[in-house]
Amino acid sequence: MNVKLEGITKVFPNRDRKDKTGVVAVRDFSIDIPDGELVCLLGPSGCGKSTLLYMICGLESPTEGKVFFGETDVTDIPSEKRGVGLVFQNYALYPHLTVRQNIRFPLENLKGSDKLTREDMEDKVLEAAKIVQIDGLLDRKPGQLSGGQQQRVAIARALVKMPKVLLMDEPLSNLDARLRLQTREEIRRIQRQTGITTIFVTHDQEEAMSISDRIVVMRDGVLHQIGHPQDVYNDPANMFVACFLGTPAVNVFNGEIKRGGLYIGNERVMDVNGVKEMPVWVGVRPEGFIPDPEGAFTCDLNGVDVLGRDISVVCSHKSCESVIRTIVSAESEVDCESKTVKFNLKPNKTYIFDKESEERIRFS
Ligand code: ATP
Repeated sequence: MNVKLEGITKVFPNRDRKDKTGVVAVRDFSIDIPDGELVCLLGPSGCGKSTLLYMICGLESPTEGKVFFGETDVTDIPSEKRGVGLVFQNYALYPHLTVRQNIRFPLENLKGSDKLTREDMEDKVLEAAKIVQIDGLLDRKPGQLSGGQQQRVAIARALVKMPKVLLMDEPLSNLDARLRLQTREEIRRIQRQTGITTIFVTHDQEEAMSISDRIVVMRDGVLHQIGHPQDVYNDPANMFVACFLGTPAVNVFNGEIKRGGLYIGNERVMDVNGVKEMPVWVGVRPEGFIPDPEGAFTCDLNGVDVLGRDISVVCSHKSCESVIRTIVSAESEVDCESKTVKFNLKPNKTYIFDKESEERIRFS
């Protein structure tokens, strides 16, 4: 089922009644999510991810705009009639019910022609439990399960009605680092196996990059970029997206375009064509630095960390407020005794941004 949002805006009334402006949680948001994809809504806390998810789910109504499932406008259709499964961060299982009863719960509320026999319910519970591999735990209570197992029960409960769209709100946040990794691979497997269009909310860029077909990067309720994770990483639309994706983060410098070149400090670090003379922000990915004794860009050397296959040359520069972290091949020759280190910059890992709008400026 493809999911389309058309010009969605959500304004919450302000708690201060005298202030009539309201809180704009989501602003004029339009995206088209293809059938069968796993898409992450990614952005910092408070950027409107959950509000957007709840509008797709039907738990919140948009102030403006429309939600479509396939060709159907579902904006005014109540949540229980949309055919969605929802998984929350805190699992939201009933502690007094067994795993079997928890998973069966959504089926027991079906009415009319949708009503199922006990046997049919049992088959569906078993099928969902098998998908998430907890069919051996059906008679336990949630309190007798690990966090990861509880989240699998919550996923099975969302899957049992075979929803058209699966919605997950930070489903891994309550798990420890190891279980997080394991469960996110599990979610990817389940999504591939079932082919259900899945929308997953997270503020963790690494999680989003590793599990999604597409990521939707947002800030302050506004869509900043949508695309395949690697494409968004390699080709960010603006400085926020460039900085939000990637560990270590992109290194940001004060720079200037003049005489057909990009300058950082008084060094001409790269030729650039097709850009007018102006001050700019320069973002360089850690892997965009090539150590070279004849290099165009000189930094003060702080130290070298060995990361195994690669090394991280850590340095500083007066045009960069924070420490510069680079990742270079372990074969690179870096003189650890020297006070400075010279680099050439890879043009495809170096981004230029307008100082005011922070939008990307393309160059050739
Ligand atoms: P987090 O990652 O912290 O959960 P989020 O990206 O999911 O954040 P939302 O929960 O969607 O963000 O909130 C977006 C904005 O809307 C925030 O500024 C929040 O304070 C505001 N907001 C959310 N729900 C309400 C509400 N019921 N009433 C008023 N403001 C709200």
